[in-house]
Amino acid sequence: MRVEVDWARCDGNGACVVEAPEVFDLDDDDALVVLDPEPSTALRDKVSAAASACPKRALTIGG
Ligand code: SF4
Repeated sequence: MRVEVDWARCDGNGACVVEAPEVFDLDDDDALVVLDPEPSTALRDKVSAAASACPKRALTIGG
């Protein structure tokens, strides 16, 4: 599974971090950091929840 971020849309609100902290984090400037751009399928539900929670629709799940 691959996680893609539309960086032009992301505003660093952190909703995805709440849903999938194994995959997403915010740095000290509240900028999104993708900790694991190719998470295991075991995390699919969490990553899907993160994509659904993103108010900017900035997350896409591929592969
Ligand atoms: S929820 Fe969306 S807009 Fe917010 S930090 Fe995550 S990817 Fe960016």
